Order: sequence, then structure tokens, then C-alpha cells
Amino acid sequence: MSRPKVRDDVALMEGYHSPQVNVAVRLNTNEAPEPPPAAFTEALQAGLASIEWHRYPDRSAVELRSRIAELESHEVPGGITAANVLAANGSNEVLQSLCLAYGGAGRRVLTFEPTYAMHSHIAKVCGSEVLVGTRADDFTVDAPGARRLILTERPAITFLCSPNNPTGCLEPPETVRAVLDAVEEVDGLLVVDEAYGQFSPWSAMSLVAEDRSIVVTRTYSKTWSAAALRLGYLVGPTWLVDDLETVVLPYHLDAMTQMAGLLALDHLDDMRARVARLVEERGRVESELVDMDVDVWPSAANFILFRPRARDGSDVWADMVERSVLVRNCSSWPGLDGCLRVTLGTTAEDDEFLAALSAVLS
Ligand code: PMP
Repeated sequence: MSRPKVRDDVALMEGYHSPQVNVAVRLNTNEAPEPPPAAFTEALQAGLASIEWHRYPDRSAVELRSRIAELESHEVPGGITAANVLAANGSNEVLQSLCLAYGGAGRRVLTFEPTYAMHSHIAKVCGSEVLVGTRADDFTVDAPGARRLILTERPAITFLCSPNNPTGCLEPPETVRAVLDAVEEVDGLLVVDEAYGQFSPWSAMSLVAEDRSIVVTRTYSKTWSAAALRLGYLVGPTWLVDDLETVVLPYHLDAMTQMAGLLALDHLDDMRARVARLVEERGRVESELVDMDVDVWPSAANFILFRPRARDGSDVWADMVERSVLVRNCSSWPGLDGCLRVTLGTTAEDDEFLAALSAVLS
């Protein structure tokens, strides 16, 4: 039988995997612990009846982009409009569109590891060479080192993730500004992935401007309790959004997703209250972890990275699964020897996690 051969570089890649195990307490994928408000799902069900299913959706999703611009405008000096926003199927599709437009074959993409694995994966799938910068022991990016690397290697795209997944650390404004200055000196683009931005006290959106080469990506998956929806967006200069319109597929964002994205924005207060609850819960769980035999890194996101001091990370992970608690096993990831990552859940779920961990470590 004849069979096509996959690209040589793709044959060497591993896909993105997050093992799903059937347990009572699932704290492994940084989802929101609660479903969206009932009023949202009811409005969506009612709204479905008005969709013209035989027609293509609004290709440029103008209404959704305008409402997202209204939502984020206060973060950007001078404000923004729909022309500064691109919405897509999850922020992963946003990242892919950026790599397709500004990366690709013959261009380099820089990531600082350990970070969100999809940055390098998407860049490679798009044909780019991936350069790996490292982080300090506290997992922050060393700005002078990053500057040197950027000026020498001249990447077309530089990724920062802030707060960073899976470490939880927030890049300080001085670092992002310094990296942006370096990126612009080599005519590159800085992508700041803020999938967890709403959980943190500072956003790189304050640096977005028409004459700057920075774009910030966000998602409905975490703060909006809508990981199932697959909706993400970016805020950036209008010329960048225009460039991306060339690479996204026609009608990539379906009518139902556009509608759901708009309806979710009617529940801003609810969303903000959930974020505030999770930030408070983060403080509680962090302070409990600090009293256990684990190293803990301060987090600005909805998850916490920790490392058991006296036991192997994978063994602890397996013992937790035995107790029906699933966390993310990062212990074999480069730079994360022995580390585990827990997503903040409901108070009851977090209590079960803390009890299981305490039992497993004793
Ligand atoms: N960026 C980061 C840092 C993430 O952790 C995730 C999800 N795990 C994403 C992007 C992708 O999110 P989405 O569901 O919007 O595709």
C-alpha cells in the first residue's frame, strides 16, 4: 500500500499531551473550577435559535472584536478599537496565526524555557527553528542575558509568557520593556502570552501601541470558565491584525463561538468575582504548601508549582492519583526536575488536594 510520508521534521515531534485520568479531583489543566453562570448558558441556548445556520458567519467577527476592544481598552494607553483585536479558536490558534505570519521556514523563534510547550511546538510545526533561552533559578527571565541573545540570534518572534506556565512567575515590567526594546532593534515581534493575565497584578497590554512591535494574547479558557468554547484573542497594533487576516482561514470563527463570546461579556462582574476568589484561594493554598516539605514558587496565575523535597516527584504524583487527585506531573520536563503543578480548584477540591499531599509526604 502506498502511504504518504510525513514531513521529516514533523516525524521527530511529539504531539501535545496532558494525560486525562479518571479521578474525583482534576487539578491538572488550569481550567476554571466552576461552570460559567447559568444565565450565560441559558442566553446561549436561546440565542442558538437565531443563528442562520445556512449562512457563513461574520468573517471578521466585528461585533465580538468591538466588545473585546471595549473590555480591554482601559489597559492600553490611548485605547483600542476592533481593528486592534483578532479573535480565534482558542489562544492557541492566535499563537499559530502569529507564527504563520511572522515565523515560518527560514526564521527563528525564541522561547525561554521552561515555559508553555505549545510556543515551541507551534513554531516548529510552522517550520521555524526554535532558539531556547534559559531562566534564572527563580524562573524569571534575565533581561540583560535576553537582550544579548536577541541581538546575536535575531529571532523573528520572541515569546514571553506572563504569568508563565508552568512556573506561575510574572515578568516584571522592566523585563518586558527591555526585551521589547531588543526585539525592535532586530525588527522582530514580541508576543506576550497572558492566558493567565487576569490573575496577575500587571499586564503588558500597557505597552501595546501602534508604533511598537508587541502583541498580547488572552483566552476565554481560564477566567471566563469556558475552556470548552475554544475562544482566544490578541490585542496589538492594527497593522499586525491586518497581516494576520491574510493567514487565518476564511470564516475560521464559527457563529456559535462568536455568539458565546459576546454573551460571556454580559457577565463581567461574575467573572471578576471568580478571579478574585481564585486569587484569594491561591494565597490560602500557597500558605499551606509553605508549611509542607516542598519548595513552592510564588504564583501570579491560577496554579502553583511545587517540588517535594524528600520524595521523587513522579512517585508523589502516582500516590496522589491513588488518592483520586490529579495534578500535572512536570517532573521530567527540562528545568523542572521533580516538580508538580496544581491548578486551583474549589475550596473543597483544594482541601482534598492538600490532605492527599500531606498524607503522601508523611
Ligand atoms: N497559553 C498558555 C500559557 C496556556 O497555558 C494555554 C492553555 N493551557 C494556552 C495558551 C492555550 O489556551 P486556549 O485554551 O485559549 O487555546
